[in-house]
Amino acid sequence: MNEIRIFSPATVANVSCGFDVMGFCLDSVGDEMVIRKVERKGIHITRIEGFDLPYEAEKNVSGVSALAMYDAIDVDFGFEIEIYKKIKPGSGIGSSAASAVGSVFGMNELLGRPFNKTQLTEFAIKGEALASKCEHADNLAPAMFGGFALVKSVSPLVILEIPSPEDLYATIIHPQIEIKTAESRALLPKEVALQDATTQWANFGSLIHGLHTGDFEVIKNALHDVIVEPHRSKLIPYFNEVTKAAINAGALGSGISGSGPSIFSLSKGIENAINVKDAIEKVYAKTGIDFDIHVSKINSKGIKIIN
Ligand code: ADP
Repeated sequence: MNEIRIFSPATVANVSCGFDVMGFCLDSVGDEMVIRKVERKGIHITRIEGFDLPYEAEKNVSGVSALAMYDAIDVDFGFEIEIYKKIKPGSGIGSSAASAVGSVFGMNELLGRPFNKTQLTEFAIKGEALASKCEHADNLAPAMFGGFALVKSVSPLVILEIPSPEDLYATIIHPQIEIKTAESRALLPKEVALQDATTQWANFGSLIHGLHTGDFEVIKNALHDVIVEPHRSKLIPYFNEVTKAAINAGALGSGISGSGPSIFSLSKGIENAINVKDAIEKVYAKTGIDFDIHVSKINSKGIKIIN
């Protein structure tokens, strides 16, 4: 096999109380990529469709992660990468992470899988760092493993796969404004009050428990962020109106997806998730800001081959 086509999914990082350590994988939104083994040595990005992104491997997250992996292997051939980008860069649903995992996942398949998913994520971290200026894996891990993924530590990289109930659905609104991860990180407080930290880890522990046991009431009571959201939500127009409408329409909870501007809501069952979508649409239709909105099942498989 010399060529592979893959679906590299969008992901929601942070999940309210799990800042920088937790994410989940979406089903209905993602990029496609083609990875090809070629005689010419090195990593070559030969095609990008959808958005204007750099072709130089060193400036594109998929190229940087591919180069990290290429340096770790000893081969007398190279790889070409084609990116069919559907996830808008800077949308907050892991556009850069999809590219970062896509190249290394595809190369690994063509090489006969010498690396496991955690090792592949380590290469992908190098690519993601190009976009966000720091090493983190809360989008990469769910894109690579699927479902909900908890990044226990980055160095050494330890990823825990968290089970979740079958009928958990996400509604994601993406207002068409750009917030760069690096810009949104600059807003974060350097210190947090002990009281807030206590609330946050109680919520996060509850979220993990609720996901494991499939207890929607526990999940609902856990989806609060008292540390990051109060700062970052200022960058997202009509954030409070959207989250209020989602809860009133039956969502378990809502929060900023990654560093925004996308906002996620979680719901029990697809009908609730569609009601939440309708309610959010009503709010945003009045604002004059363009937006995309999606309902997605939690994607338990993650990145996959599509040919
Ligand atoms: P997101 O959360 O959507 O990934 P980021 O702000 O983390 O958004 O990353 C987007 C930034 O990374 C943009 O400045 C974009 O130009 C840069 N970038 C470089 N290569 C890629 C790529 N292959 N896919 C997406 N973004 C990329």
